[in-house]
Amino acid sequence: MPARKRRPSRKKLLEVFENEEIQDFLERIVGREGMEVVKILFEKGLVNEFKLAEMVNKEINDVRTILYKLYAHRLVTFSRKRERRRGWWIYSWEINFDRLFHLLKREKIKKLEMLRKRIAEEGSIQIFECPKCELRMGYEKALENLFTCPKCNVVLREKSLEKIEKELEEGLKRIEELERIFK
Ligand SMILES: [Zn+2]
Repeated sequence: MPARKRRPSRKKLLEVFENEEIQDFLERIVGREGMEVVKILFEKGLVNEFKLAEMVNKEINDVRTILYKLYAHRLVTFSRKRERRRGWWIYSWEINFDRLFHLLKREKIKKLEMLRKRIAEEGSIQIFECPKCELRMGYEKALENLFTCPKCNVVLREKSLEKIEKELEEGLKRIEELERIFK
């Protein structure tokens, strides 16, 4: 097993938590209602699940549901301890930051590869993107929707594929910078 890495300061950890890319990624997994639990895991490190439930003022089973969603992606690890008096197992959880950065980077790189392939095939075309949900469409489809996102009802932004490529590259760079905090 590799040596345990130095834990960054609370301030640095909150900086990571507040990164938009990381927020979006985690919210897709746990939903808006799970983010409070995730925030505490970021701030506190290893936390016992009963304490966690108390801190977010939720039922233990609701907290476990959130933890299991994270665990399904191996975004948390746990350790357990037997409670001496009652003989129960008490689980403590913490964020697996290595895994988090691995998944984030993998997703971005995959998107970049697909986009570059598309640029190579189709050249520089204009597309329309929802600033809220990032739904994208070509001119015809955008016209059909009167240049408004059918889901969010906000005005679509015109963008080139190259611009999206640049944004993805910048996003990847930000993630790599944040990852360095843990090295
Ligand atoms: Zn939208």
